Amino acid sequence: MSKSEVHTSEDQVNASRRSFIGKTAALTTAAIAPGLFLHTSAGARDPSQAVTDKVRWGMLIDTNKCADGCTECVSACNKENGLPDHGRPASDPQWIRKVKLRDNLTGRETNLPMLCQHCEHPPCVDVCPTGASFKRADGIVMVDRHVCIGCRYCMMACPYKARSFIHETITEKPTHAPRGKGCVESCTLCVHRLDRGETTTACAEACPHQAILFGDLNDPNSELAQRLKSEPSRQIRADLQLNTGVRYTSI
Ligand code: SF4
Ligand code: SF4
Repeated sequence: MSKSEVHTSEDQVNASRRSFIGKTAALTTAAIAPGLFLHTSAGARDPSQAVTDKVRWGMLIDTNKCADGCTECVSACNKENGLPDHGRPASDPQWIRKVKLRDNLTGRETNLPMLCQHCEHPPCVDVCPTGASFKRADGIVMVDRHVCIGCRYCMMACPYKARSFIHETITEKPTHAPRGKGCVESCTLCVHRLDRGETTTACAEACPHQAILFGDLNDPNSELAQRLKSEPSRQIRADLQLNTGVRYTSI
């Protein structure tokens, strides 16, 4: 799959998983309900303290600011997590990718980065037969590579095509992002940063247009909370009632 896709609103519900996001071009206007007004704070956690559900990490992505052709967030994620480019876009790992939606009714095109939505009710966790796919107390959905058997059920279950399978033998990887052939992986919300007390992600930090706002959905006093209070936001495929941690504006 190319890192920039164009889809139309005529796609059908049972289209291939790789064209799923295209369907949301139509669903953007028809099936996506206004996002819940969750709240965010960017409060750093003392790394010595356990993760709790007092925090729920999430994002607000302003698609009006996301520039056509810009892939800075993708590059930053790949660099941060040591994701290689084998020149095989259909199978190279993509923890975040750029998607272009087109509304056939209006012709309006929208650019947005698509990543794991860190669902409150993640289908990827529900279907995992080994428990490798799990959700932390702070809402981050991850894969335990020591337990993953590579069955890829989670990839089939994810409505956002957010997960990738590692096809190649990995010889070099950052210590904070362990990876291995035969495992499934996806965006970790830069958990390694959060667990050392940082409060932003590589993709949010890299965006030259400040299109990605990261924070704690449970804190009403954060910038993210204020934005979510003052602007309409949406979940992609809100009809699935997954209560995503990633919200979008201007779609
Ligand atoms: S977006 Fe996909 S991988 Fe992420 S939590 Fe939801 S179902 Fe799981
Ligand atoms: S939060 Fe981190 S892991 Fe997730 S897409 Fe952004 S840079 Fe990649």
